[in-house]
Amino acid sequence: MVRVRFAPSPTGLLHIGNARMAIFNWLFARRHKGTFILRIEDTDVARSEKKYMDQLIEDLHWLGLTWQEGPDVGGQYGTYLQSERLHIYHDICQRFLNEDLAYRCYCTPEELEERRQIARLTRKPPRYDNRCRNLTDKQKKAFETSGLSFTIRFKVPEELLVFDDLIRGTCQFDMSLVGDFVIMRSDRTPSFHFAVAVDDTLMQITHVIRGEDHLSNTPCHILLFHALNRKPPQFAHLSLTMGADRTLLSKRHGAFSLSEYRKLGYLPEALLNYMILLGWAPRDKKEKFKIDDIIDTFEIGTMSKASSVFDQQKLDWLSGQYIREADLERLTNLAIPYLQAAGFIPTDENNINRAKLRLVVDAVRNNMSCMSQIIQEVDIFFKDVVVSENHVEFLSSEISQSVLFSFYRELQKQDTLSPEIFKEILKSVQNETKVNGKGLYMPIRIALTGREHGPELYNIVNILGINTCNKRIERYFVVKK
Ligand code: GLU
Repeated sequence: MVRVRFAPSPTGLLHIGNARMAIFNWLFARRHKGTFILRIEDTDVARSEKKYMDQLIEDLHWLGLTWQEGPDVGGQYGTYLQSERLHIYHDICQRFLNEDLAYRCYCTPEELEERRQIARLTRKPPRYDNRCRNLTDKQKKAFETSGLSFTIRFKVPEELLVFDDLIRGTCQFDMSLVGDFVIMRSDRTPSFHFAVAVDDTLMQITHVIRGEDHLSNTPCHILLFHALNRKPPQFAHLSLTMGADRTLLSKRHGAFSLSEYRKLGYLPEALLNYMILLGWAPRDKKEKFKIDDIIDTFEIGTMSKASSVFDQQKLDWLSGQYIREADLERLTNLAIPYLQAAGFIPTDENNINRAKLRLVVDAVRNNMSCMSQIIQEVDIFFKDVVVSENHVEFLSSEISQSVLFSFYRELQKQDTLSPEIFKEILKSVQNETKVNGKGLYMPIRIALTGREHGPELYNIVNILGINTCNKRIERYFVVKK
């Protein structure tokens, strides 16, 4: 039975790179009908905050991920908050001390730093020199009575450690380059290595899927698994994601947290789809897919060893496809908060003209890659338009004037407008003026919207209605007449 975990530290908003690790763990669990676990690594009390944990849970749920065990849903191996598992780490640490697998180290941070500096200067590996490993009984006693604080270090055997990574193949580490590492800090909190290995053991994790930045931690974890009498899980270290400038994805690259993408109004299924493409591709190379379509073919071993590049344009393209196909009612609901914030529609939901709103959303959905962009697209429907001087000049040309005049006359024959009626009107204007193509629709578009681009004209006309169309057209040929 596959058991995988995503183990974030709640020290900030969940960034895209980390969310990607959650996704691949979740996908792997679904692929193998296993269990996906959320574990919160919050032993760094100074930097961890509950609000970040709540936020990441909300954001991952928004993305469509669910887990079978975690701090919010419980589970038989709980608690899933490391800060509530300290007694477990202490007990095991004590056992390691009793079994002579670990020892107290009294070296102070200053001494350690000094030795690291010397190692650097003499070009030696900056490893701990294991000096407290072999203290005499007398020395130990002296330290104990001195009341000096201590850490607890794990005894690292000087051996070549070899393991197979599901993505990177055989990995080898010369453990003589790694000094005895800390498993319990002087403040009695477990080190990252120790808490991870203890929890992965007790939570019966079968596969550890995480970023390749943790590859060098893995040998330490493997040693701890052995000490814990547990066969190490299988490892899959995923290559990381870079920004377009090939540096590690970070804030500099724009939106970087899941929360921000959510606030911008990306559809979660679009973001999920895009993020799966970072380092993996379905066999048929299709870029747009539903999870159910790919789940049976997902093989973690086929993930790329090379780093992936987060391509905002590609995300926008893909996301645009999803918006184009999404249910209109859903899009309308998603659009409302943005339109309210921009002051385009009433804050009281009861006063919103939903029929008009649906038409507006439908008219502009093709031009958007996320819902927040709607405010740049729809002002023409909610505010009077401003036509630039250049455009006024264009509207004043003889051809434009003949089109506008003819269009206006045709409008007077109608009581109401629809896309169909507009198409008929346009035909009549064309017959009368003998103008077609751009020359025909551009004056109308600019007079109605003040812009050269935008939604389909027939949608614009239909949404604006006959009175507004009349008013917006009138002023341009009336001025020049
Ligand atoms: N808390 C670690 C991180 O956020 C998890 C590492 C692991 O998956 O083992 O990077």
